[in-house]
Amino acid sequence: MKGAVHKRTTCRACKNTKLTKVLSLGPTPLANAFLTKEMLDKEEMFYPLDVYFCQNCHFLQLGHVVRPEILFKNYVYVSSTSPVFVEHFHDFAHDLIQRFDLDQKSLVVDIGSNDGILLKPLKEHNLRTLGIEPAQNIAARANKDGIKTIAKFFTTALARSIGKAYGQASVVTANNVFAHIDNLDEVIEGTKILLKKNGVFVVEAPYLVDFLTKNYFDLVYHEHLSYLSVKPLQTLFHRFDMEIFDVQKVPVHGGSIRVFVKGKGAAYKQTARLSHFLKLEKRMRLDRVETYFTYADKVRINKTKLIALLTKLKHQGKSIAGYGAPAKGNTLLNYFGIGTDYINYIIDDSPYKQGLYSPGKHIPVVASAMLAKQKPDYLLLLAWNFAKPIMEKLQDYQHQGGKFIVPVPRPKTV
Ligand SMILES: [Zn+2]
Repeated sequence: MKGAVHKRTTCRACKNTKLTKVLSLGPTPLANAFLTKEMLDKEEMFYPLDVYFCQNCHFLQLGHVVRPEILFKNYVYVSSTSPVFVEHFHDFAHDLIQRFDLDQKSLVVDIGSNDGILLKPLKEHNLRTLGIEPAQNIAARANKDGIKTIAKFFTTALARSIGKAYGQASVVTANNVFAHIDNLDEVIEGTKILLKKNGVFVVEAPYLVDFLTKNYFDLVYHEHLSYLSVKPLQTLFHRFDMEIFDVQKVPVHGGSIRVFVKGKGAAYKQTARLSHFLKLEKRMRLDRVETYFTYADKVRINKTKLIALLTKLKHQGKSIAGYGAPAKGNTLLNYFGIGTDYINYIIDDSPYKQGLYSPGKHIPVVASAMLAKQKPDYLLLLAWNFAKPIMEKLQDYQHQGGKFIVPVPRPKTV
């Protein structure tokens, strides 16, 4: 498909050309592009998956950008199906109302609003809310639930028309979407157009520090264009005369940050928490390219060790199945080169994935009934960050002699 992917020559945050490739995961299919049986005979699309470090502003980012229309066309993720997220955004809404004195006159605009998970609790407090959600199916669901949602990508033009129709916003939020956007300039420009003089832009996204310390290398896939830390974000917002004045750590997505940004004229003071994060990032040497080379080495060692373990088990005649088919699992399977030569099938509870085949490696995804039927000797946990609750859930399997393989950060059997 022509024009499906483009390579960046400049840093997404500072526009400098001093980009250094630090981790290459090779040509990889889209992590959510599970295939039907009929699709197995057709050509599958692979795109480069390489992580670059900007030597100028230290922003960590993918070098190749797949067209968002391709990436988010069939976006099925619906936030409100997870009670943990519902509670998280409920608390977030209450914090916003209290901290920024929001009332019935206040407008909150959420970019990438999904099914309205943050806007629902705000609307319950009679605030004026507006969602922006480019996935048509999800936007339609939000509108049906009474959360006014525009089914478009957020642009400066859209910001202007919203400003005309609704007035200016007290708060603009972007949760788990900022790292998915290639043209951040457009989003920040648009936000500036929308915000009142004393308005606040709040960005919530997975934190680079957790990515590094917890070895979340498998969170590298084409949707995740940027790996965010506070210092490079400061540089980015400065280009637009905006300023980060507070940062909070939040526990979702394995460790995220909530970043509060204001326009030049707004009255908010910089908090001590902000300097705490800047010091932490300095201490962790996030501004040094060597940090990322060392990390890439760790990932490669992880790969070698896991393949050695799986090969040994296969030689012993053991059967191995995958457990869980999250998007990140496909980064691991494709980069580590694990296909049906090692694992026969992947068990997943989602009816949307059962009957399909994993992108790239074409491993069949089956329902959990297969576990009792086939009794594989080992289960390779692909959602390894949830290893503990998964193993608790599968106690029966374990009692009958089944074993688990936790693949990351050091492969081990349990
Ligand atoms: Zn840069």
